[in-house]
Amino acid sequence: MSHYLIIGSGLIGRLTAWRLIRAGYQVTLLSKDDKTGSDSAGFVAASMVAPLTEAVTAEPLVKTIGMRSYQLWPKWLSELEARVFYQNEGTLVVAHQGDKAEMERFDRRAKHVLADSDYVQLDKAALSLREPELAERFDQAMWFEKESCIDNRQLYQQLTSFLELHANWLITDEIGELNSTEIEKLTQRYLQCSAESFDVVLDCRGNGGKANLAELRSVRGEVIRVSAPEVNFKHAIRLMHPRYPFYLAPRPNNEYVLGATVIESDDRSQLTVRSGLELMSALYSLHKGFAEARILEMAAHCRPGLPDNLPTIRRTDWGYVINGFYRHGYLFAPAVIDDLCHLLAGQSGQIQFGALYDI
Ligand SMILES: Cc1cc2nc3c(=O)[nH]c(=O)nc-3n(C[C@H](O)[C@H](O)[C@H](O)COP(=O)(O)OP(=O)(O)OC[C@H]3O[C@@H](n4cnc5c(N)ncnc54)[C@H](O)[C@@H]3O)c2cc1C
Repeated sequence: MSHYLIIGSGLIGRLTAWRLIRAGYQVTLLSKDDKTGSDSAGFVAASMVAPLTEAVTAEPLVKTIGMRSYQLWPKWLSELEARVFYQNEGTLVVAHQGDKAEMERFDRRAKHVLADSDYVQLDKAALSLREPELAERFDQAMWFEKESCIDNRQLYQQLTSFLELHANWLITDEIGELNSTEIEKLTQRYLQCSAESFDVVLDCRGNGGKANLAELRSVRGEVIRVSAPEVNFKHAIRLMHPRYPFYLAPRPNNEYVLGATVIESDDRSQLTVRSGLELMSALYSLHKGFAEARILEMAAHCRPGLPDNLPTIRRTDWGYVINGFYRHGYLFAPAVIDDLCHLLAGQSGQIQFGALYDI
């Protein structure tokens, strides 16, 4: 039975470990993160699976890879021990009166990039039926039905429980550049065995993998998480804005995560007062019930981006680097990890997005 050594237990590391164990392989996981995953970008993320609205501002390939993940997520989630909150009502895109030009620009680009059937224009009456509380402040919306949203914290919790039972999982110091010598030192130090005990090493360190991926850059994102008993939105919502669009992702029990900002920076420090105010004003502008919401958390993290903002699998002389998920970890993970599993199983004919990889 093959034995894989995975380095990094964030979104990609833990999902890969779970899939490989389910496929019958042995997995050892080394990461500087704690077992809840609180050091990883995937722990902070809004975790929207948005193949259509993301493709509008990125490139058409985002839709193709994202739709593959959108199809895989319900199946993957159904294989977990307990239910993970999965909102599958789609995304509503709205703009305030003063930002209508942004909405028109988004609509023009959507017409160019997407199929007519990918979204529906809703007038006030149609919006009132679909998301009544949003229609109190907006008179039109674009509805992208085939988009979803996962509760990342519940997902992480489920994967933690599974991996604690089925993987050999150790917390390490920060791991530097990976090469055959360093991997041997690592396995001797933490596992008291030779690197030869492992068939393949998989580097899933996200932002922490720069020593092995020179082009990798960090892109800061900020989120606020609130509990808002007076707000009952069931869709994900994108609020158009001239500087950057805001996105609101629903969570169970009237909790919401609102995020924004794509700042080219590896700064992971807390939010400034100005960013916090901008996020909170955006919230309040969506629904007056957010005024009484309780702030549960404000957080910032960095997404790992390659120059084309697309993910990659790269073969090295000691294993594979799986990285570059940028703002699309949830959107791309199932599609890319499925390909990785086929690659490791020697089923190269079943790899769907081979053009992205250097394997
Ligand atoms: C604010 C924000 C919002 C986001 N929203 C979405 C969204 O709505 N939809 C979506 O699809 N994506 C979203 N993302 C992107 C998504 O979170 C990332 O693409 C994804 O988490 C990348 O996964 P990863 O496993 O490569 O990195 P991470 O999740 O960051 O995990 C890396 C892991 O490796 C460990 N590690 C790092 N360096 C080392 C080292 N040197 N030694 C040992 N261990 C190390 C870390 O501790 C961590 O556990 C968002 C990201 C942010 C920051």
